[in-house]
Amino acid sequence: MIEQIRRLVTDIPGPRSVQMAERKKSCVANGVATTLPVYVERAGGGVLVDVDGNHLIDLGSGIAVTTVGNSAPAVARRVHEQVDAFTHTCFMVTPYEGYVEVCEALAELTPGDHAKKSALFNSGAEAVENAVKIARVATGKDAVAVFDHAYHGRTNLTMAMTAKNMPYKNGFGPFAGEVYRAPMSYPLRDGLDGATAAARAIDVLDKQVGAANLACVVIEPIQGEGGFVAPAPGFLPALAQWCSANDVVFVADEIQTGFCRTGDWFACDHEGVVPDLVTTAKGIAGGLPLAAVTGRAELMDAVHAGGLGGTYGGNPIACAAALGAIEEMRSADLVGRAREVGELMRTRLEKIAAEHPVVAEVRGRGAMTAIELCEPGTTTPDPARAAAVSAHCHAQGVVTLTCGTWGNVFRFLPPLAISDTLLEEAFDVVAEAFAVTA
Ligand SMILES: *Cc1c(COP(=O)(O)O)cnc(C)c1O
Repeated sequence: MIEQIRRLVTDIPGPRSVQMAERKKSCVANGVATTLPVYVERAGGGVLVDVDGNHLIDLGSGIAVTTVGNSAPAVARRVHEQVDAFTHTCFMVTPYEGYVEVCEALAELTPGDHAKKSALFNSGAEAVENAVKIARVATGKDAVAVFDHAYHGRTNLTMAMTAKNMPYKNGFGPFAGEVYRAPMSYPLRDGLDGATAAARAIDVLDKQVGAANLACVVIEPIQGEGGFVAPAPGFLPALAQWCSANDVVFVADEIQTGFCRTGDWFACDHEGVVPDLVTTAKGIAGGLPLAAVTGRAELMDAVHAGGLGGTYGGNPIACAAALGAIEEMRSADLVGRAREVGELMRTRLEKIAAEHPVVAEVRGRGAMTAIELCEPGTTTPDPARAAAVSAHCHAQGVVTLTCGTWGNVFRFLPPLAISDTLLEEAFDVVAEAFAVTA
């Protein structure tokens, strides 16, 4: 186990990282940008160790992926066993048990106790695309509804579904058609209760698309890249109910929120919402590329044999990793741990908010918590302050991420393997970052 401390032995980034960044410049496309160019050598618990020997505290989990921690023992053990047994056959050619076991676990863990089936893929975007394919076949309809500030990926269809132009869409069109955008519930900015916000969104869908044309509504129960926007209570249940009454497939994109992150197995559990289809990825496999669509058996089975799949989808090593991650989530009660981490973070962030009026709101749930920075007393975004706070945290060896349509949201996604001591220290640095940039 890596020593669970923050320790800086060079500037950040250090000389060896700077050298590697030079090499990157000569051979990696500039379009692939990095948030914090420290090159990582080892990682575990709540710590990343870079090539210069600096120990950094991880508050990002590689964007909500290493929920169980980096190289979590149960993941590493199962991956090693699988690599030694076989690395690939293609499930569509000669199948293997791990894939089936992951689908069994998904049926058990995702919201609702109806009959469920799954299909496995490599990335979140691929899962979202396949959820749309399934919804279209199952309903015989074409249109797809998404929301303001949504993020669903970077492939052609999912770019169309993603809201933010820069950097995700700019210049990459034309985009897939039949994608319609409805207003999201964003309590800080619209001041609406959940029922009113849902009525507003449903009116747009009803009048501008028509339920008769709508195959599915796709929504992140708490938005990720779009700013950790948590809809007002009642918004998701009202939308789900409207979908069910109108033969519209309700798809919860739980790629960022799923697998213990929000203090439930899935964010939909919080309000007892049962989606027709759920997309998962990120936290599912402790860092190996795996994604899934899980849903009502009759919807999933609407697709003809051979209509779903892919060369690598549900690769045996990724499935072994997922089974290890799920084992760890269960045995270490990471749902409970996410709630504890959430409480600690909220306490620290509310204290910062009380001292710094630039913090317009503390929001999110569990280990998916954020603060939105606005000019004091307004909702005018302050991305410059977010960048300054971020830069200070990075220089002090705390890996933090920003997000949001205006880039003014500071988000916290620590691995759940992090200790309270390390978390407290990280938030000391965040508090200091607000003080020195005031
Ligand atoms: C990250 C993300 C995606 C895309 O996943 P990739 O694996 O990057 O393709 C889709 N939806 C949500 C909510 C995400 O957070």
